Amino acid sequence: MTVQPFDVDPKHCLIAGEWHPCASGETLPLLDPSDGSTLCEIARGGPDDIDRAVAAARAAFNGPWGRATAPERGRVLQKLGALVLENIDHLAELEARDVGKPLSQARADVVALARYMEFYAGAADKLHGATIPYLDGYTVYTLREAHGVTGHIVPWNYPMQIIGRSVGAALATGNACVLKPAEEACLTALAFGELARRAGLPAGALNIVPGLGAEAGAALTAHSDVNHLSFTGSVGTGRLVQQSAAQNLVPVTLELGGKSPQLVFDDADIDAALPFLVNAGIQNAGQTCSASSRILVQRGVYAQVVSKMAERYAALRAGPAMADLAVGPLVSARQKQIVEGFLAKGADLTRIAQGTVVDDAPAGGAYVPPTLFEGVSPDHTLAQDEIFGPVQVIIPFTDEDEAREIANGTAYGLVASVWTRDGGRQMRLAKALRAGQVFLNNYGAGGGVELPFGGSGLSGHGREKGFEALYGFTSLKTVAAYHG
Ligand code: NDP
Repeated sequence: MTVQPFDVDPKHCLIAGEWHPCASGETLPLLDPSDGSTLCEIARGGPDDIDRAVAAARAAFNGPWGRATAPERGRVLQKLGALVLENIDHLAELEARDVGKPLSQARADVVALARYMEFYAGAADKLHGATIPYLDGYTVYTLREAHGVTGHIVPWNYPMQIIGRSVGAALATGNACVLKPAEEACLTALAFGELARRAGLPAGALNIVPGLGAEAGAALTAHSDVNHLSFTGSVGTGRLVQQSAAQNLVPVTLELGGKSPQLVFDDADIDAALPFLVNAGIQNAGQTCSASSRILVQRGVYAQVVSKMAERYAALRAGPAMADLAVGPLVSARQKQIVEGFLAKGADLTRIAQGTVVDDAPAGGAYVPPTLFEGVSPDHTLAQDEIFGPVQVIIPFTDEDEAREIANGTAYGLVASVWTRDGGRQMRLAKALRAGQVFLNNYGAGGGVELPFGGSGLSGHGREKGFEALYGFTSLKTVAAYHG
Protein backbone atom coordinates (compact mmCIF):
# COMPACT_ATOMS: atom_id res chain seq x y z
CA MET A 1 0.00 0.00 0.00
CA THR A 2 1.28 3.50 -0.81
CA VAL A 3 0.97 6.20 1.78
CA GLN A 4 1.66 9.86 1.20
CA PRO A 5 2.00 12.77 3.63
CA PHE A 6 -0.62 15.21 2.30
CA ASP A 7 0.27 15.92 -1.35
CA VAL A 8 4.03 15.77 -0.70
CA ASP A 9 6.08 13.37 -2.80
CA PRO A 10 7.87 11.33 -0.09
CA LYS A 11 10.94 11.15 -2.34
CA HIS A 12 11.48 14.87 -1.71
CA CYS A 13 13.40 16.97 0.84
CA LEU A 14 12.16 20.31 2.19
CA ILE A 15 14.79 22.95 1.49
CA ALA A 16 14.26 26.72 1.56
CA GLY A 17 10.50 26.29 1.76
CA GLU A 18 10.18 24.10 -1.36
CA TRP A 19 10.03 20.34 -1.92
CA HIS A 20 12.90 19.03 -4.08
CA PRO A 21 14.23 15.61 -5.05
CA CYS A 22 17.57 14.96 -3.35
CA ALA A 23 20.74 15.81 -5.28
CA SER A 24 21.63 12.19 -6.13
CA GLY A 25 18.04 11.36 -7.18
CA GLU A 26 18.44 8.10 -5.23
CA THR A 27 15.69 6.70 -3.03
CA LEU A 28 15.29 4.21 -0.19
CA PRO A 29 12.33 1.90 0.47
CA LEU A 30 10.22 2.64 3.54
CA LEU A 31 8.85 -0.59 5.00
CA ASP A 32 5.60 -1.24 6.85
CA PRO A 33 6.57 -3.05 10.08
CA SER A 34 3.10 -4.58 10.36
CA ASP A 35 3.57 -6.78 7.28
CA GLY A 36 7.02 -6.07 5.80
CA SER A 37 5.62 -4.56 2.58
CA THR A 38 7.00 -1.36 1.02
CA LEU A 39 4.95 1.69 1.98
CA CYS A 40 6.71 4.05 -0.44
CA GLU A 41 10.15 5.26 -1.53
CA ILE A 42 11.83 8.13 0.32
CA ALA A 43 14.71 10.44 -0.63
CA ARG A 44 18.22 9.23 0.10
CA GLY A 45 19.52 12.66 1.09
CA GLY A 46 23.27 13.13 1.40
CA PRO A 47 25.98 15.72 2.03
CA ASP A 48 24.97 17.94 -0.93
CA ASP A 49 21.39 18.17 0.33
CA ILE A 50 22.61 18.89 3.85
CA ASP A 51 24.84 21.69 2.46
CA ARG A 52 21.85 23.25 0.71
CA ALA A 53 19.63 22.81 3.78
CA VAL A 54 22.18 24.42 6.10
CA ALA A 55 22.66 27.32 3.65
CA ALA A 56 18.88 27.80 3.50
CA ALA A 57 18.66 27.77 7.29
CA ARG A 58 21.50 30.29 7.53
CA ALA A 59 19.76 32.58 5.03
CA ALA A 60 16.50 32.33 7.02
CA PHE A 61 18.34 33.07 10.26
CA ASN A 62 20.07 36.09 8.72
CA GLY A 63 16.79 37.11 7.07
CA PRO A 64 13.08 37.25 7.87
CA TRP A 65 13.02 34.44 10.45
CA GLY A 66 15.97 35.82 12.41
CA ARG A 67 14.26 39.23 12.46
CA ALA A 68 10.83 37.89 13.53
CA THR A 69 9.79 39.09 16.97
CA ALA A 70 9.07 36.59 19.73
CA PRO A 71 5.27 37.12 19.46
CA GLU A 72 5.48 36.59 15.67
CA ARG A 73 7.34 33.30 16.20
CA GLY A 74 4.76 32.29 18.79
CA ARG A 75 1.89 33.03 16.39
CA VAL A 76 3.31 30.75 13.68
CA LEU A 77 3.82 27.93 16.17
CA GLN A 78 0.29 28.40 17.50
CA LYS A 79 -1.08 28.09 13.98
CA LEU A 80 1.09 25.05 13.33
CA GLY A 81 -0.26 23.37 16.48
CA ALA A 82 -3.84 24.04 15.33
CA LEU A 83 -3.09 22.56 11.88
CA VAL A 84 -1.58 19.47 13.53
CA LEU A 85 -4.79 18.90 15.50
CA GLU A 86 -7.00 19.54 12.47
CA ASN A 87 -5.13 16.77 10.65
CA ILE A 88 -5.02 14.29 13.51
CA ASP A 89 -6.55 11.39 11.54
CA HIS A 90 -4.07 11.67 8.68
CA LEU A 91 -1.02 12.15 10.92
CA ALA A 92 -2.00 9.30 13.23
CA GLU A 93 -2.42 6.90 10.32
CA LEU A 94 0.95 7.89 8.83
CA GLU A 95 2.70 7.36 12.17
CA ALA A 96 0.90 4.08 12.87
CA ARG A 97 1.79 2.60 9.46
CA ASP A 98 5.33 3.91 9.45
CA VAL A 99 6.38 3.06 13.04
CA GLY A 100 4.02 0.11 13.58
CA LYS A 101 2.53 1.97 16.54
CA PRO A 102 -1.03 1.02 17.57
CA LEU A 103 -3.35 3.67 16.13
CA SER A 104 -4.56 5.08 19.45
CA GLN A 105 -0.94 5.50 20.64
CA ALA A 106 -0.21 7.32 17.36
CA ARG A 107 -3.20 9.61 17.96
CA ALA A 108 -1.83 10.43 21.43
CA ASP A 109 1.49 11.35 19.76
CA VAL A 110 -0.30 13.77 17.40
CA VAL A 111 -1.90 15.47 20.40
CA ALA A 112 1.53 15.65 22.07
CA LEU A 113 3.00 17.26 18.92
CA ALA A 114 0.23 19.86 18.98
CA ARG A 115 0.84 20.45 22.69
CA TYR A 116 4.55 21.08 22.04
CA MET A 117 3.61 23.70 19.46
CA GLU A 118 1.12 25.33 21.85
CA PHE A 119 3.54 25.23 24.78
CA TYR A 120 6.46 26.73 22.85
CA ALA A 121 4.18 29.22 21.08
CA GLY A 122 3.18 30.55 24.50
CA ALA A 123 6.73 30.41 25.83
CA ALA A 124 8.35 32.28 22.91
CA ASP A 125 7.85 35.77 24.42
CA LYS A 126 8.40 34.72 28.03
CA LEU A 127 12.11 34.00 27.92
CA HIS A 128 13.62 36.95 29.74
CA GLY A 129 17.11 38.05 30.64
CA ALA A 130 18.11 39.48 34.02
CA THR A 131 19.63 42.62 35.45
CA ILE A 132 22.73 42.14 37.56
CA PRO A 133 23.81 44.54 40.34
CA TYR A 134 27.42 45.54 39.59
CA LEU A 135 29.84 48.40 40.19
CA ASP A 136 28.79 51.98 40.74
CA GLY A 137 27.97 53.67 37.43
CA TYR A 138 27.08 50.45 35.58
CA THR A 139 23.91 48.82 34.36
CA VAL A 140 24.35 45.15 33.54
CA TYR A 141 21.78 42.90 31.89
CA THR A 142 21.64 39.59 30.06
CA LEU A 143 20.15 38.66 26.70
CA ARG A 144 19.08 35.18 25.60
CA GLU A 145 20.02 34.73 21.93
CA ALA A 146 19.33 31.98 19.43
CA HIS A 147 22.34 29.84 18.48
CA GLY A 148 21.65 30.26 14.75
CA VAL A 149 21.36 27.03 12.71
CA THR A 150 20.38 23.98 14.77
CA GLY A 151 20.68 20.35 13.61
CA HIS A 152 18.07 17.82 14.80
CA ILE A 153 18.60 14.08 14.42
CA VAL A 154 15.42 12.22 15.26
CA PRO A 155 14.92 8.45 15.73
CA TRP A 156 12.07 6.26 14.57
CA ASN A 157 10.32 5.46 17.86
CA TYR A 158 8.47 8.75 18.48
CA PRO A 159 9.07 10.90 15.39
CA MET A 160 6.29 13.39 16.08
CA GLN A 161 6.98 13.80 19.78
CA ILE A 162 10.73 14.20 19.35
CA ILE A 163 10.33 16.66 16.46
CA GLY A 164 7.84 18.57 18.60
CA ARG A 165 10.09 18.87 21.61
CA SER A 166 13.32 19.76 19.82
CA VAL A 167 12.21 21.68 16.72
CA GLY A 168 9.42 23.40 18.71
CA ALA A 169 11.82 24.81 21.30
CA ALA A 170 14.45 25.70 18.67
CA LEU A 171 11.97 27.65 16.53
CA ALA A 172 10.39 29.38 19.52
CA THR A 173 13.79 30.84 20.39
CA GLY A 174 14.44 31.97 16.80
CA ASN A 175 16.82 29.29 15.52
CA ALA A 176 16.57 27.97 11.95
CA CYS A 177 16.46 24.16 11.84
CA VAL A 178 17.75 21.31 9.72
CA LEU A 179 16.00 18.06 10.57
CA LYS A 180 17.24 14.57 9.65
CA PRO A 181 14.45 12.08 10.42
CA ALA A 182 15.14 8.34 10.71
CA GLU A 183 15.20 6.43 7.46
CA GLU A 184 12.94 3.83 9.12
CA ALA A 185 10.14 6.32 9.89
CA CYS A 186 10.06 9.77 8.30
CA LEU A 187 6.53 10.28 6.94
CA THR A 188 5.21 12.43 9.77
CA ALA A 189 8.37 14.56 9.58
CA LEU A 190 7.50 15.31 5.95
CA ALA A 191 3.87 15.97 6.88
CA PHE A 192 5.00 18.31 9.66
CA GLY A 193 7.19 20.18 7.15
CA GLU A 194 4.20 20.67 4.88
CA LEU A 195 2.04 21.93 7.76
CA ALA A 196 4.83 24.36 8.73
CA ARG A 197 4.72 25.78 5.19
CA ARG A 198 0.94 26.10 5.40
CA ALA A 199 1.21 27.79 8.81
CA GLY A 200 3.37 30.50 7.22
CA LEU A 201 6.77 29.55 8.67
CA PRO A 202 9.24 31.54 6.53
CA ALA A 203 11.21 29.59 3.90
CA GLY A 204 14.37 28.01 5.31
CA ALA A 205 13.35 28.21 8.98
CA LEU A 206 12.71 24.45 8.85
CA ASN A 207 14.50 22.19 6.36
CA ILE A 208 14.07 18.42 6.25
CA VAL A 209 16.50 15.96 4.68
CA PRO A 210 15.60 12.26 4.99
CA GLY A 211 18.33 9.71 4.34
CA LEU A 212 20.72 7.33 6.03
CA GLY A 213 22.31 8.24 9.35
CA ALA A 214 25.81 7.47 8.11
CA GLU A 215 25.30 9.78 5.11
CA ALA A 216 22.83 12.63 5.73
CA GLY A 217 23.08 12.37 9.54
CA ALA A 218 26.86 12.35 9.64
CA ALA A 219 27.02 15.24 7.14
CA LEU A 220 24.72 17.30 9.36
CA THR A 221 26.66 16.66 12.57
CA ALA A 222 29.98 17.43 10.83
CA HIS A 223 28.78 20.61 9.12
CA SER A 224 30.86 23.62 10.14
CA ASP A 225 27.95 26.07 9.81
CA VAL A 226 25.68 24.28 12.31
CA ASN A 227 25.70 25.95 15.72
CA HIS A 228 23.89 23.38 17.92
CA LEU A 229 23.04 19.69 17.67
CA SER A 230 20.18 17.80 19.23
CA PHE A 231 20.29 14.00 18.99
CA THR A 232 18.02 11.23 20.28
CA GLY A 233 18.98 7.62 19.64
CA SER A 234 21.48 4.92 20.57
CA VAL A 235 24.53 5.29 22.80
CA GLY A 236 26.89 4.31 19.97
CA THR A 237 25.56 6.90 17.53
CA GLY A 238 25.38 9.45 20.36
CA ARG A 239 29.13 9.06 20.84
CA LEU A 240 29.71 9.72 17.13
CA VAL A 241 27.50 12.80 17.26
CA GLN A 242 29.38 14.14 20.29
CA GLN A 243 32.71 13.54 18.52
CA SER A 244 31.49 15.56 15.53
CA ALA A 245 30.24 18.30 17.83
CA ALA A 246 33.68 18.35 19.47
CA GLN A 247 35.36 18.94 16.10
CA ASN A 248 33.26 22.05 15.52
CA LEU A 249 33.05 22.90 19.24
CA VAL A 250 29.27 23.26 19.20
CA PRO A 251 26.90 22.44 22.07
CA VAL A 252 25.06 19.15 21.82
CA THR A 253 22.06 17.66 23.60
CA LEU A 254 22.08 13.85 23.74
CA GLU A 255 19.10 11.74 24.77
CA LEU A 256 20.18 8.12 24.63
CA GLY A 257 17.64 5.96 26.40
CA GLY A 258 17.71 4.15 29.71
CA LYS A 259 17.02 1.21 31.96
CA SER A 260 14.47 2.97 34.09
CA PRO A 261 13.26 1.32 37.33
CA GLN A 262 9.98 1.45 39.22
CA LEU A 263 10.40 0.73 42.95
CA VAL A 264 7.38 -0.88 44.62
CA PHE A 265 7.41 -0.92 48.43
CA ASP A 266 5.31 -3.10 50.77
CA ASP A 267 3.08 -0.13 51.68
CA ALA A 268 2.29 0.83 48.07
CA ASP A 269 -1.20 0.90 46.57
CA ILE A 270 -0.53 -2.10 44.31
CA ASP A 271 -3.74 -1.86 42.31
CA ALA A 272 -3.03 1.78 41.48
CA ALA A 273 0.54 0.89 40.49
CA LEU A 274 -0.25 -2.11 38.27
CA PRO A 275 -1.34 -0.36 35.05
CA PHE A 276 1.74 1.90 35.26
CA LEU A 277 4.07 -1.01 35.98
CA VAL A 278 2.99 -2.84 32.85
CA ASN A 279 2.14 0.00 30.43
CA ALA A 280 5.46 1.75 31.00
CA GLY A 281 7.14 -1.40 29.69
CA ILE A 282 4.98 -2.26 26.72
CA GLN A 283 3.97 1.18 25.40
CA ASN A 284 5.16 1.49 21.78
CA ALA A 285 6.26 -2.18 22.07
CA GLY A 286 8.87 -1.14 24.64
CA GLN A 287 10.65 1.05 22.09
CA THR A 288 10.58 4.07 24.39
CA CYS A 289 13.68 5.76 25.78
CA SER A 290 11.91 6.21 29.11
CA ALA A 291 10.35 2.72 29.10
CA SER A 292 10.38 1.16 32.55
CA SER A 293 12.14 -2.13 31.92
CA ARG A 294 13.04 -2.92 35.56
CA ILE A 295 10.40 -3.50 38.24
CA LEU A 296 11.94 -3.63 41.73
CA VAL A 297 9.57 -5.11 44.32
CA GLN A 298 9.90 -5.41 48.11
CA ARG A 299 9.64 -8.97 49.36
CA GLY A 300 6.42 -8.47 51.38
CA VAL A 301 4.37 -7.80 48.22
CA TYR A 302 6.64 -9.62 45.76
CA ALA A 303 4.42 -12.66 45.16
CA GLN A 304 1.32 -10.48 44.78
CA VAL A 305 2.95 -8.13 42.24
CA VAL A 306 4.45 -11.02 40.26
CA SER A 307 1.12 -12.79 39.95
CA LYS A 308 -0.87 -9.65 39.09
CA MET A 309 1.65 -8.50 36.48
CA ALA A 310 1.70 -12.01 34.98
CA GLU A 311 -2.09 -11.94 34.71
CA ARG A 312 -1.93 -8.66 32.77
CA TYR A 313 0.84 -9.93 30.52
CA ALA A 314 -1.09 -13.07 29.65
CA ALA A 315 -3.96 -10.87 28.42
CA LEU A 316 -1.77 -8.72 26.13
CA ARG A 317 -2.27 -9.05 22.38
CA ALA A 318 0.22 -7.98 19.72
CA GLY A 319 -0.86 -7.33 16.14
CA PRO A 320 -0.87 -4.87 13.22
CA ALA A 321 -0.74 -1.16 14.04
CA MET A 322 -4.13 -0.45 12.45
CA ALA A 323 -5.77 -3.22 14.53
CA ASP A 324 -4.96 -0.99 17.51
CA LEU A 325 -4.18 -3.73 20.04
CA ALA A 326 -2.09 -3.15 23.17
CA VAL A 327 1.15 -3.88 21.30
CA GLY A 328 2.18 -3.39 17.67
CA PRO A 329 5.11 -4.85 15.77
CA LEU A 330 8.65 -3.61 16.40
CA VAL A 331 9.83 -1.01 13.92
CA SER A 332 11.81 -3.40 11.73
CA ALA A 333 13.06 -6.93 11.23
CA ARG A 334 16.45 -5.66 12.47
CA GLN A 335 14.93 -4.42 15.75
CA LYS A 336 13.11 -7.75 16.12
CA GLN A 337 16.44 -9.53 15.76
CA ILE A 338 17.99 -7.32 18.48
CA VAL A 339 15.12 -8.06 20.89
CA GLU A 340 15.12 -11.78 20.13
CA GLY A 341 18.86 -11.76 20.84
CA PHE A 342 18.10 -10.42 24.32
CA LEU A 343 15.35 -13.00 24.85
CA ALA A 344 17.87 -15.73 24.02
CA LYS A 345 20.19 -14.27 26.65
CA GLY A 346 17.32 -14.68 29.14
CA ALA A 347 17.05 -18.44 28.53
CA ASP A 348 18.41 -19.06 32.07
CA LEU A 349 15.74 -16.83 33.66
CA THR A 350 12.23 -17.60 34.85
CA ARG A 351 9.87 -16.43 32.11
CA ILE A 352 6.59 -16.09 33.99
CA ALA A 353 4.24 -14.75 31.35
CA GLN A 354 3.99 -13.88 27.72
CA GLY A 355 1.41 -12.04 25.65
CA THR A 356 0.16 -13.44 22.35
CA VAL A 357 0.80 -12.45 18.77
CA VAL A 358 -2.66 -12.66 17.16
CA ASP A 359 -3.17 -15.45 14.62
CA ASP A 360 -3.92 -13.11 11.73
CA ALA A 361 -0.77 -10.98 12.23
CA PRO A 362 0.97 -10.99 8.81
CA ALA A 363 3.97 -13.31 8.65
CA GLY A 364 6.20 -10.51 7.33
CA GLY A 365 5.55 -8.30 10.40
CA ALA A 366 8.17 -7.70 13.12
CA TYR A 367 6.21 -9.17 16.04
CA VAL A 368 7.63 -10.19 19.40
CA PRO A 369 5.27 -11.31 22.20
CA PRO A 370 5.52 -9.13 25.33
CA THR A 371 7.60 -11.10 27.83
CA LEU A 372 7.95 -10.89 31.62
CA PHE A 373 10.77 -12.40 33.70
CA GLU A 374 10.93 -12.64 37.49
CA GLY A 375 13.57 -13.32 40.13
CA VAL A 376 16.17 -11.60 37.98
CA SER A 377 19.57 -10.78 39.44
CA PRO A 378 20.34 -7.03 39.18
CA ASP A 379 23.57 -7.70 37.27
CA HIS A 380 22.00 -9.90 34.57
CA THR A 381 22.27 -8.53 31.01
CA LEU A 382 18.48 -8.20 30.84
CA ALA A 383 18.57 -6.05 33.98
CA GLN A 384 21.49 -3.91 32.78
CA ASP A 385 21.19 -3.28 29.03
CA GLU A 386 18.55 -1.35 27.12
CA ILE A 387 16.47 -3.93 25.21
CA PHE A 388 14.09 -1.59 23.37
CA GLY A 389 11.37 -4.20 23.11
CA PRO A 390 8.32 -5.34 25.14
CA VAL A 391 10.36 -7.08 27.83
CA GLN A 392 10.38 -6.39 31.58
CA VAL A 393 12.27 -7.98 34.48
CA ILE A 394 11.09 -8.14 38.10
CA ILE A 395 13.81 -7.91 40.75
CA PRO A 396 13.15 -8.51 44.48
CA PHE A 397 14.62 -6.29 47.23
CA THR A 398 14.57 -6.29 51.02
CA ASP A 399 14.82 -2.67 52.17
CA GLU A 400 15.17 0.92 50.99
CA ASP A 401 18.99 0.85 50.91
CA GLU A 402 19.04 -2.22 48.70
CA ALA A 403 16.31 -0.78 46.44
CA ARG A 404 18.30 2.43 45.97
CA GLU A 405 21.50 0.52 45.17
CA ILE A 406 19.81 -1.70 42.60
CA ALA A 407 17.97 1.25 41.06
CA ASN A 408 21.19 3.24 40.70
CA GLY A 409 23.19 0.18 39.66
CA THR A 410 23.17 0.58 35.88
CA ALA A 411 25.13 2.88 33.59
CA TYR A 412 21.92 4.79 32.71
CA GLY A 413 20.02 7.53 34.55
CA LEU A 414 16.89 8.69 32.76
CA VAL A 415 13.63 8.10 34.70
CA ALA A 416 12.64 6.37 37.96
CA SER A 417 9.49 6.00 39.99
CA VAL A 418 8.72 5.13 43.60
CA TRP A 419 5.49 3.54 44.79
CA THR A 420 5.08 4.07 48.55
CA ARG A 421 2.76 5.86 50.97
CA ASP A 422 5.71 6.85 53.19
CA GLY A 423 6.31 10.58 52.61
CA GLY A 424 9.81 10.53 54.07
CA ARG A 425 10.85 7.68 51.80
CA GLN A 426 9.40 9.51 48.80
CA MET A 427 11.55 12.56 49.55
CA ARG A 428 14.71 10.55 50.33
CA LEU A 429 14.51 8.52 47.15
CA ALA A 430 13.52 11.46 44.96
CA LYS A 431 16.90 12.94 45.94
CA ALA A 432 18.94 9.73 45.91
CA LEU A 433 17.84 8.18 42.62
CA ARG A 434 20.08 8.83 39.63
CA ALA A 435 17.53 10.01 37.08
CA GLY A 436 16.54 13.16 35.22
CA GLN A 437 12.91 12.62 36.20
CA VAL A 438 11.53 10.92 39.32
CA PHE A 439 7.83 10.10 39.56
CA LEU A 440 6.18 9.45 42.94
CA ASN A 441 3.19 7.07 42.84
CA ASN A 442 2.89 7.41 39.03
CA TYR A 443 5.05 6.95 35.96
CA GLY A 444 5.23 9.04 32.79
CA ALA A 445 6.88 7.21 29.92
CA GLY A 446 7.56 9.86 27.30
CA GLY A 447 4.81 12.12 28.55
CA GLY A 448 4.74 15.63 29.93
CA VAL A 449 5.37 18.34 27.38
CA GLU A 450 5.86 20.76 30.29
CA LEU A 451 8.31 18.57 32.22
CA PRO A 452 12.07 18.99 31.67
CA PHE A 453 13.52 15.69 30.49
CA GLY A 454 16.97 14.18 29.99
CA GLY A 455 19.48 12.01 31.77
CA SER A 456 22.99 11.37 32.94
CA GLY A 457 25.55 8.62 32.32
CA LEU A 458 24.73 6.56 29.23
CA SER A 459 21.34 8.30 29.08
CA GLY A 460 23.10 11.40 27.74
CA HIS A 461 23.13 15.01 28.84
CA GLY A 462 21.24 18.26 28.39
CA ARG A 463 17.53 18.82 28.93
CA GLU A 464 14.65 19.01 26.49
CA LYS A 465 10.92 19.63 27.07
CA GLY A 466 9.37 22.28 29.25
CA PHE A 467 10.75 25.78 29.68
CA GLU A 468 14.20 24.36 30.41
CA ALA A 469 14.68 23.48 26.72
CA LEU A 470 14.61 27.18 25.86
CA TYR A 471 17.86 27.68 27.78
CA GLY A 472 19.50 24.87 25.80
CA PHE A 473 18.51 26.39 22.46
CA THR A 474 19.86 29.85 23.37
CA SER A 475 23.13 31.27 24.59
CA LEU A 476 23.44 33.97 27.21
CA LYS A 477 25.01 37.34 26.47
CA THR A 478 25.97 39.73 29.28
CA VAL A 479 25.87 43.44 28.49
CA ALA A 480 27.74 45.74 30.87
CA ALA A 481 27.03 49.45 30.25
CA TYR A 482 29.10 52.14 31.97
CA HIS A 483 27.21 55.40 32.20
CA GLY A 484 28.89 57.06 35.17
P1 NDP B 1 20.53 5.16 15.93
O1 NDP B 1 21.04 5.88 17.12
O2 NDP B 1 21.55 4.68 14.97
O3 NDP B 1 19.51 6.11 15.11
C1 NDP B 1 18.95 7.32 15.61
C2 NDP B 1 19.07 8.41 14.57
O4 NDP B 1 20.46 8.68 14.32
C3 NDP B 1 18.47 8.04 13.21
O5 NDP B 1 17.91 9.21 12.63
C4 NDP B 1 19.69 7.60 12.44
O6 NDP B 1 19.51 7.65 11.05
C5 NDP B 1 20.72 8.59 12.92
N1 NDP B 1 22.11 8.18 12.71
C6 NDP B 1 22.61 6.92 12.57
N2 NDP B 1 23.96 6.96 12.38
C7 NDP B 1 24.30 8.27 12.41
C8 NDP B 1 25.55 8.96 12.28
N3 NDP B 1 26.71 8.31 12.08
N4 NDP B 1 25.56 10.31 12.37
C9 NDP B 1 24.41 10.98 12.58
N5 NDP B 1 23.20 10.39 12.69
C10 NDP B 1 23.14 9.05 12.62
O7 NDP B 1 19.60 4.00 16.45
P2 NDP B 1 19.07 2.69 15.68
O8 NDP B 1 17.95 3.07 14.82
O9 NDP B 1 20.23 2.01 15.02
O10 NDP B 1 18.53 1.78 16.88
C11 NDP B 1 19.41 0.94 17.61
C12 NDP B 1 19.18 1.02 19.10
O11 NDP B 1 19.29 2.37 19.53
C13 NDP B 1 17.81 0.59 19.60
O12 NDP B 1 17.74 -0.78 19.79
C14 NDP B 1 17.69 1.34 20.90
O13 NDP B 1 18.35 0.63 21.93
C15 NDP B 1 18.45 2.63 20.65
N6 NDP B 1 17.54 3.75 20.31
C16 NDP B 1 17.22 4.62 21.30
C17 NDP B 1 16.32 5.63 21.06
C18 NDP B 1 15.91 6.58 22.14
O14 NDP B 1 14.81 7.12 22.08
N7 NDP B 1 16.77 6.86 23.09
C19 NDP B 1 15.69 5.81 19.75
C20 NDP B 1 16.12 4.85 18.75
C21 NDP B 1 17.02 3.86 19.05
P3 NDP B 1 18.99 6.35 10.24
O15 NDP B 1 18.06 5.61 11.12
O16 NDP B 1 18.33 6.95 9.07
O17 NDP B 1 20.21 5.56 9.92
